[in-house]
Amino acid sequence: MSLKKFLNIVLLTTLISIGFKAEAQQLIYSTKFKNYNAEQKKFNKALEEARLELERIEAEKKAREAAIKAKKMAFLNENWSNKKFFAYDRKTIKEPFHLEFDTLNYTSPIDKDKVITSRFGWRKGRAHNGIDIDLIKGDSIRAILPGKVRYVKWHGGHGRTVVVRHENGLETVYAHMTKQLVKENQIVKQGDVLGTGGVTGNARGSHLHLEVRYKGQPINPEYLFDFSDKNEIRAKDLWVSRKYTNAVNFSSRRKPKIAVHSTKEEAEKSSKVQKKIYRIRSGDTLSKIAYRNNMSITQICKLNKISRNKTLRIGQKLILIE
Ligand SMILES: [Zn+2]
Repeated sequence: MSLKKFLNIVLLTTLISIGFKAEAQQLIYSTKFKNYNAEQKKFNKALEEARLELERIEAEKKAREAAIKAKKMAFLNENWSNKKFFAYDRKTIKEPFHLEFDTLNYTSPIDKDKVITSRFGWRKGRAHNGIDIDLIKGDSIRAILPGKVRYVKWHGGHGRTVVVRHENGLETVYAHMTKQLVKENQIVKQGDVLGTGGVTGNARGSHLHLEVRYKGQPINPEYLFDFSDKNEIRAKDLWVSRKYTNAVNFSSRRKPKIAVHSTKEEAEKSSKVQKKIYRIRSGDTLSKIAYRNNMSITQICKLNKISRNKTLRIGQKLILIE
């Protein structure tokens, strides 16, 4: 108890004991009122502080939203071209790179069950940079994520093609279409119809050839998207390593083993062993190639599923370990 309080109590009891009740009452009121005023001030101050804090949080939230929007706009504008299938002329992105998604669900590009007839991977001596999904000519093809249509043209072996740029920089390529039903620079929502499927370009049998690219670099679509009927994105936040951007690391006929990298370090570790393609030149033998690349003949044969006695043709491609 403070001295002041103590003296107040002494004064009060004295006033009451000597019969000055009204004076005692007044004294009580005045101290209570003083306390009330102090409490009220404290309360108002706390209220004002809370209001300022709220304002600060609101401003921070707005700034964060503006930054996200600016980032999305930058992704949509970077190297924008309606003329070129490859908006990036050369490789501009170095693995591992980071990707973010707003959602964990994509929309299936076709309305029925997805039957995959060929996967991202090495196929008949060349890279198959997309995934083939069976369909019947005329089936609707839908944007798997929201975005902006960048390219609506005939593109060589891809036939009638639509490319959509998404807000995270990713592009999806829909090839072999019968009809393209969107226009360049059109904004599309997730699930909007882009066209109908078919067999245009270099396709045997009607199917959708779907590619997923980031700054031109193809990514194994199955690394990002689960093509089962769940239609799930593997993670909102992930790192893409070299392993998943190079078709030589996969077979077009086998379901790949996917391990999602959630950190840069993890992605770097996974891409330590890299495969590369070597084109046979005149005078090459398996032993010479093995010696020059620090590999054993057995290793090369196993990797390429060939026998030791196989005759090498000039121009033939072999898979080697870097
Ligand atoms: Zn294909």
